[in-house]
Amino acid sequence: MTFLFDEDIKQKVSALDPKFREKISEMFEAMHKSINMLYDAAIRDEKTGLYNNKFFETVLDMEMEKAKRGKEKLSLVITDIDHFKKINDTHGHVKADELLAKLAKVISSCARKSDVVARFGGEEFFILLPETTIEKAKRFAARIKKAIHSDPTLKKYSLTVSGGIAQYKKGDNREKFKDRADKALYRAKEGGRDRFEFSK
Ligand code: GH3
Ligand code: MG
Ligand code: MG
Repeated sequence: MTFLFDEDIKQKVSALDPKFREKISEMFEAMHKSINMLYDAAIRDEKTGLYNNKFFETVLDMEMEKAKRGKEKLSLVITDIDHFKKINDTHGHVKADELLAKLAKVISSCARKSDVVARFGGEEFFILLPETTIEKAKRFAARIKKAIHSDPTLKKYSLTVSGGIAQYKKGDNREKFKDRADKALYRAKEGGRDRFEFSK
């Protein structure tokens, strides 16, 4: 691991006894690791490893600002596990937690690096898709559905999700944008679950 020191510090460190120099280097490395761990703890959800709500909202504001000013399209997908209460009741909350973490992995594996996959509530995930039209977001949702259906563990427990999709519209504020995706999710539940609906 390399560190960026200014010239003065570099000279002082290189003048040290090699053994001491090694110790200092180890110390900096440990400090660097701790900072990374602290940063991760601040922006990630412990149970799933996904981004947390606070981080998601910060990125959402930034991406909405970009979409408002430019031509860039921005889409949002909300997912909610179907009948998760029943999975808890039948298999216990430890297994249900394992399935939640597995689902987070499966959904993340369908996303791009620039997408933000976050755990919003208990078993609800929000996925922000920058530079993505609603048509592309629908294809993304279809990939999620396929990946969930073909994952051996999720399949074994018949885990499915419903979802809502919305593309950012000028005039949307944070709540309006999320509400449109949420209403679409509600329709997906009403329509029989294990499906995605979108906001027109
Ligand atoms: P629906 O298909 O309508 O979504 O049914 P549901 O049972 O999933 O109902 P709902 O989404 O309203 O409730 C979510 C349930 O998921 C409540 C709780 O039992 C469970 N749950 C929420 N968060 C967690 C979690 O972190 N771990 C576990 N094991 N269960 C959770
Ligand atoms: Mg729910
Ligand atoms: Mg649910």
